[in-house]
Amino acid sequence: MSDQNFDLVILGSGSGGYAAALRAAQLDMKVALVEKDKVGGTCLHKGCIPTKALLHSAEVADVTKEASHYGVNATFQSIDMGAVNAYRDGIVDKLYKGLSGLVNQKNITLFQGEGRLTGPKTITVNGENLTGKNVILATGSNTRTLGIEIGGRVITSDQALQMDFVPSRVAILGGGVIGVEFASIWRSFGAEVVIIEGADRLVPNEDPAMSKGLERAYRKRGIEFKLGNKFKTVTQLPTGVTVELENGDQVTAEILLVAVGRGPNATGFGFEEQGVAMDRGFVLTNDRLETNLSGVYAVGDIVPGLQLAHRGFMQGIFVAEEIAGLKPIKVDEYGIPRVTYCEPEIASVGLTEAQAKEKFGADKVSTYEYNLAGNGKSNILGTAGVVKLIREINGPVIGFHMIGSRAGEQIGEAQLIVNWEAYPEDVAPLIHAHPTMNEAIGEAHLALAGKPLHAHA
Ligand SMILES: Cc1cc2nc3c(=O)[nH]c(=O)nc-3n(C[C@H](O)[C@H](O)[C@H](O)COP(=O)(O)OP(=O)(O)OC[C@H]3O[C@@H](n4cnc5c(N)ncnc54)[C@H](O)[C@@H]3O)c2cc1C
Repeated sequence: MSDQNFDLVILGSGSGGYAAALRAAQLDMKVALVEKDKVGGTCLHKGCIPTKALLHSAEVADVTKEASHYGVNATFQSIDMGAVNAYRDGIVDKLYKGLSGLVNQKNITLFQGEGRLTGPKTITVNGENLTGKNVILATGSNTRTLGIEIGGRVITSDQALQMDFVPSRVAILGGGVIGVEFASIWRSFGAEVVIIEGADRLVPNEDPAMSKGLERAYRKRGIEFKLGNKFKTVTQLPTGVTVELENGDQVTAEILLVAVGRGPNATGFGFEEQGVAMDRGFVLTNDRLETNLSGVYAVGDIVPGLQLAHRGFMQGIFVAEEIAGLKPIKVDEYGIPRVTYCEPEIASVGLTEAQAKEKFGADKVSTYEYNLAGNGKSNILGTAGVVKLIREINGPVIGFHMIGSRAGEQIGEAQLIVNWEAYPEDVAPLIHAHPTMNEAIGEAHLALAGKPLHAHA
């Protein structure tokens, strides 16, 4: 047993934990970073990055299949999952190497192993007690399974990323971000796909206009979905897996992906024993991310709210600066940009129409939908979709929602508009380059400011 002292001890080196470590090190703190697996966490190794690499392979497959439409002679033959996975791993490995290089610096000591909170400010790992003036809990999240046994033909996103073949038919339980993402990948790779969603629409956390657009696109792509229907039982057979729904319908597939959300990974590491206030497995914090224990903070997916890597990054930076006494601006959930990665993509920030009406009153908000049919670049790319804006009447833009191929790339401007509380009249005179998909944002603001260009008022 040995004891070591640090300015800051961080448990977990995912998006939240490593961002806090890097910022704290810049601020000259002596940091201990404890990780039982690989630096980078879910996002780099089992989440954001590998899935986006698969989606890019999927896009290449789709473009190849449609090549003749663009006058290009090319023939789609098949998907080589070995080569797809090698391409994906190459991206992850390169980023992992870069991140490891950043973490490997004089102010950060990495401790490899499972850590436990054994005192209010002490993490014990491999028999070493690491005591910090401050501690950050950043142990992330795990797939929720609703009691369904994972194994064999029933998998989560973790196993889906390890697959070395394209299944012939996949059932996906859950039509949220992860479910629609894998549906998109597998469909492009040639699988039959059926999504089972308990709510009455796909991506139920998004504005209904986005759900409508995605359902239309998925129908066109031949992706089946069963909405408003909860599962009752899951049965594995030697030849496949059968999901029985509450209405008596049955869905049979080769593989079942359980994608019903992610829950906090915060039990079993001594948090409760040390008196950290928790609720349904999440670690509770105040709006400056400090738990009920003074000097013990929490960041990322273990804190209730949007489970997104960039939220974790910003929370990590925030806590490091808070500890350093820099009084950073707090991380506001309302302004966090959200992208649903699939074909077509959904990008949103701020309030949905229903949330805006509830907050401000139905007669105090107005909306505008700009159809991408009027956008030159969208026509060139062959994508359909809309930009939907929500504004407070005589006030700023409070919600942005866009669906279309590559819509995620537009979220940067959208989040500046919403977070800087811009009025449509502020954005309307700003010039958007032609022909870009970004122009659709300019057009939507022109229209909402009462002077549409390539659209009807
Ligand atoms: C399939 C999938 C796709 C996703 N795509 C996106 C996306 O495109 N964009 C996006 O923003 N988000 C995406 N996410 C979500 C994103 O990955 C998470 O929001 C993010 O990783 C959360 O960061 P975190 O630091 O809270 O936790 P994690 O990244 O989960 O990191 C926690 C770390 O703590 C370690 N750890 C846990 N317990 C201990 C312990 N006791 N001792 C030592 N180490 C421990 C773990 O090994 C892990 O490395 C995706 C998630 C999944 C599953």
